[in-house]
This record gives sequence, structure tokens and C-alpha cells, in this order.
Amino acid sequence: MNKILSNYDEILKQIRSCRDKLNGKYCEPELIAVSKKFPKEIIQILVNKGHRTFGENKVQEAQSKWVDLKKENPEKNIELHLVGPLQSNKANLALEIFDVIQTVDREKIALKLNKYLEEKTDINKKKFFIQVNIGGEKQKSGIEESLAEQFFQWCSNDLNLKIIGLMCIPPLDQPPEPFFIKIRNLCDRLNLEHASMGMTNDFKSAISYGATFIRVGTGIFGKRD
Ligand SMILES: *Cc1c(COP(=O)(O)O)cnc(C)c1O
Repeated sequence: MNKILSNYDEILKQIRSCRDKLNGKYCEPELIAVSKKFPKEIIQILVNKGHRTFGENKVQEAQSKWVDLKKENPEKNIELHLVGPLQSNKANLALEIFDVIQTVDREKIALKLNKYLEEKTDINKKKFFIQVNIGGEKQKSGIEESLAEQFFQWCSNDLNLKIIGLMCIPPLDQPPEPFFIKIRNLCDRLNLEHASMGMTNDFKSAISYGATFIRVGTGIFGKRD
């Protein structure tokens, strides 16, 4: 238990030190604690500590933990991000559970999300990222880089999705820096404030290339089964 809090403090310290080198070039990087595969009791330790931004990669797993966690911590103002792929038959459920969906990557899912949002009243509260398949990898989700701009315009203008940034997972077998640079450049070109990039192994580098949301799991909670 103490291990998690000391890991957390260490990560925060490293984030601050990377940020200080940037001289305010980008907005403050925010830590998403990715709690997938860890139970409620463990997550609660970080909630008690005052951390409020969390990530999960599966809708059903998130439902089994976060409906209760949010209910039990109403004053904590928790913001939950979906960082894993979304199937269109789970779009409605995802909107019930998550505050931010980072993996909008195709027309079908955007249309579904938009339709459900229009049926609800809290339309402006939900925020979205477009996931870009920045390494052009066959097995990875995310929209193709060359289609990202057009897709972003369509989501924002033709639909009503409040897109606040781009998200990527660079190829595992290559240095991530060129991909971080590409995503940041694309964000700047589209006038998007937020880039969600960088995980336990590369978040420091991601911050130095303009990440504003980093997604750290192992570095806080330890190894997953
Ligand atoms: C699991 C996961 C993370 C966290 O990865 P770690 O290497 O454990 O920090 C970040 N982003 C996504 C999309 C993930 O699925």
C-alpha cells in the first residue's frame, strides 16, 4: 500500500522536473493513473490521497469498479478516461461511466457517441480525444494519420463531439520520440491543446515533446498479472 503512494510521489516529482525544463511551452501535464486490472481497494488508496484522474481500458471492467467508486467518493470530483478500444455496442454504457473517451477512431463510433449524447442533457460535459494510429500499424486501433484532420473537422463541425486532443500509442519496437513529435505537430496544426501520449516507460520523453496527458499504470500500481 505504501509502495503505491511512494511510487505516486516519485512519478509526480519526475513530472514536475520534466515540466520545469519546458518553461511553460505547453500546458501543465496531467497524470492519468491507469488502474486496469487493479481492484477498487487499491484504487481507493490513491483517491484518498487526492488523485482524481484515472484511466481504464475496458468498459465492463470500469463499470464493475467505478460506478461504486464514484458513488462512494462524491466529493472527490473524479474524472475517468477510457484509454482502450471502444466497440459501438458499448458506446452508450461508456458514456454512462466515463467522463473522457480517448479512443474515438472511426465514423461508426463517432456517430453512435453523438447520437447517444444528443439524447441526453449533459452533452457538453463529455470530452473526447481522437486516437491516431501514428505508427501505421495494422494490428493497432486509431485513425490513419492522413485522415486525422478530416475526421477531426467532421467530429467537431458536423457532429457535436467536443474533441480536446489527440491520443496515440507509438509502436513498441521503435524509439517513441518521432511519433510524439508528429502527434504534437498535428495537435498544433489543428489548434488542439491536448496530446495524450507517454506511458510508464516513456512519459518523461513524452512530456518534453508536449504531452499534456500522460497515462501511467505500472509505474504507480506495479506489474499487472
Ligand atoms: C495500460 C495502458 C497504459 C499504461 O501502461 P503502463 O505501461 O502500465 O504505464 C497506458 N495507455 C494505454 C492505452 C493502456 O492500455
